[in-house]
Amino acid sequence: MSTTTELFTSPEDVATFRRPLTPEQADKLPHIHRLLLGYYGEPKPRELRDPLSQLIYSLLAARTKTPTSNQVMRELERSFPGAGPGHWEPVRDASVSDIERAIAIVTFPDQKAPRLKDLLLQITARTGALSLDFLARYRTDKIRAWLEQFEGIGPQVSAAVVNFSTLRRRALVIDANHLRVIQRLCVVPRADAATTEERLMRFVPETWDAEMLDEDHSLVKLHAQTLCTFDSPKCEPCPLLKICPTGQRNTNELKLEP
Ligand code: SF4
Repeated sequence: MSTTTELFTSPEDVATFRRPLTPEQADKLPHIHRLLLGYYGEPKPRELRDPLSQLIYSLLAARTKTPTSNQVMRELERSFPGAGPGHWEPVRDASVSDIERAIAIVTFPDQKAPRLKDLLLQITARTGALSLDFLARYRTDKIRAWLEQFEGIGPQVSAAVVNFSTLRRRALVIDANHLRVIQRLCVVPRADAATTEERLMRFVPETWDAEMLDEDHSLVKLHAQTLCTFDSPKCEPCPLLKICPTGQRNTNELKLEP
């Protein structure tokens, strides 16, 4: 992970970061959170995985629906006897073609299979064991930098490992769903996921711990999959319509149609 000032791309970003938040800005994310919570209710509590299992899950889950991602973890355990949380050696030692067969239900299994095997081999080579439990001793930014040294592991995956696993650290997971909703709401200037996370973290109240950040991500993701979908957002019934420039534009255009 870069430092904040390194990551921001413009002097305006750095200046904005240093300026204190107005009360309205400080309530931006909590307000969205309250509206989503009122509409959808509390998300189910997450069953926390150990850091390595979460890393494997996040790698396989890219561009794949959640039920399929959960199923593929069970497929790995079924296909490679002895494999499971704390024991992923049978997957590491399997052939790429066997891994590809086991993960066939996710998107791009031909790309994910060699990447997964290579990642498990590299972790073993660097640490002398196939476990990420040692990361619990590190600061969050160090953990994320360590994870992101591996090919194919970006900020989204490193955030998921630190926030969704038993590490339970503060991070906001900006996947494609989360990014779409935040961009439509114009909460921060449009940017890639890594920059968006940095910018959004400035609006996250100090009092939001790892569980709260996870709850926020779950609510925004649920909203992205329910109403704020990729190709046909349902803005009329959306609980965020009053504060959403995109939704207001969409609904005004509908009213103007003959
Ligand atoms: S109003 Fe429409 S575009 Fe805005 S968040 Fe809701 S569904 Fe998405």
